[in-house]
Amino acid sequence: MNPGLPLASLLLVSAAIADPSVKVTTAHSATDAGFKGEGVLPPAMNDAGAKAFFRVISGAANEVCGVLPVVQDGKPPGSEDDPDRNFFFAIGEKGGRLSADLHGPIAVKNVATYSWHAGPRAPQIYKLYGTDGSAANFNAEPAADIDPATVGWKLIASVDTHDKGAGQHAVSIGTEGGEPLGTFSRLLFDIQANDESNGQGNTFFSEIDIIDAKGPALQHYEHKVETFTSKDGKFKYILDSSEAPDLADWAKKNLMPVMEEWYPKIIAMLPVEGYTPPDTINFTLKLATTLPGHAQGVPAFASGKNVTLNANFMRDQAGGEAVGCAIHEIVHVVQFGNPGGSTRGQRPPTWVTEGVADYIRWFLYEPQAKGAEITKRNFASSNYDSSYRVTANFYDYVIKNHEKDLMRKLNLATHAGYTPELWKDWTGKTAEELDAAWKAANKLRLGIE
Ligand SMILES: [Zn+2]
Repeated sequence: MNPGLPLASLLLVSAAIADPSVKVTTAHSATDAGFKGEGVLPPAMNDAGAKAFFRVISGAANEVCGVLPVVQDGKPPGSEDDPDRNFFFAIGEKGGRLSADLHGPIAVKNVATYSWHAGPRAPQIYKLYGTDGSAANFNAEPAADIDPATVGWKLIASVDTHDKGAGQHAVSIGTEGGEPLGTFSRLLFDIQANDESNGQGNTFFSEIDIIDAKGPALQHYEHKVETFTSKDGKFKYILDSSEAPDLADWAKKNLMPVMEEWYPKIIAMLPVEGYTPPDTINFTLKLATTLPGHAQGVPAFASGKNVTLNANFMRDQAGGEAVGCAIHEIVHVVQFGNPGGSTRGQRPPTWVTEGVADYIRWFLYEPQAKGAEITKRNFASSNYDSSYRVTANFYDYVIKNHEKDLMRKLNLATHAGYTPELWKDWTGKTAEELDAAWKAANKLRLGIE
């Protein structure tokens, strides 16, 4: 992203506008200008469009494009050909219709649309309609052959930027005097594809913003990265909160100090001769919609020295599971974070290493949460290799009854090579024998016949 460049052109379109006071402002840049331009604000993260319910009501979405929420997150695509970060209709479709349910009537001040492509998918051609849904014959989802104006919708503006060609297009629809466009409970975008003989002329929509006249001050995507250095200067924790600036303060106060305290502790718990875990961890708060592969339900994951935290999960669980979840991930950074490390043998099955991460989390970091209990409900389905919290509970049993040094030994096996026979070496019992004893103890404790 290269913000701050002036846009190549700014144009006021006055033709084909339904209401004379409506003003359509368009801006275009042949290169990446961060969608900035006079009269057009860059994409917003907290506009009414971010909370609206968008639906395709006519035409088919392209299968490889980002899910529809990519037009709501305020985050520009990473490049001029970034299908994951844009919404567009399928090849061969001559456009289509999108509706945005605003969850009740609001005074809409502006509607802004942003698109970016290196080729014919950049320009925007569409008609914008609004409705309060009050017409007697109102149709919320008019099919392609029905003129919305005949079923309770009001034409607000027509947009056509096709003469500008490839690059970034930003369109802002407002009024001359700055007063609202009207009070609407839904908007409808009747989108036309660019004329392209191979059928690939559907616009790459990067963002659609709907500005509520009474909404909060708009927040725009900004690169926000802070580095926290440990007091002894040994470790760096880098926090990227660009996609969730609202979580930056929480992370600074509640998350980073815990990481600073626990990362060296976990390293000390899991020493491996000849292997040094990374001295830097990158934490990135990511919007669910920008997680790789649209893995929206995943709370967090680690890859090397990078920990990705799902911003939605962190926000929902700020006072609950958020920090413990990050503890689990930094155990993985200690385990595998240094790719030049000393891993020589067979990597253990994932239940082994996930169990270690959850043991450290649930039994050492937050034992009071009792998050890894075996209960009457989960007893029957719990085996030593069930992974995560169940395996953590099994480890707790083995540590209390057979081998206090289990965490260090398991981690050593992560590097030097794991075999199931190790359980016998460490405890005198096979994993299956330990499993049977652990289950018997749980059965007795829970009073299960
Ligand atoms: Zn894990």
